[in-house]
Amino acid sequence: MAELKAIIFYDRDGTRYYRCPRCGMLFRTQKEYTRHVNKAHGHLFRK
Ligand SMILES: [Zn+2]
Repeated sequence: MAELKAIIFYDRDGTRYYRCPRCGMLFRTQKEYTRHVNKAHGHLFRK
């Protein structure tokens, strides 16, 4: 299944975040990020 690739970065405490490349929203977990992509941008992947 096609997915948007998350932009991963770390804050100064070393906490990892996932950023959506399309809308810039931040998520703490891959799971939350994936859920967001499917819900908010899922139409991009329908054919
Ligand atoms: Zn998004």
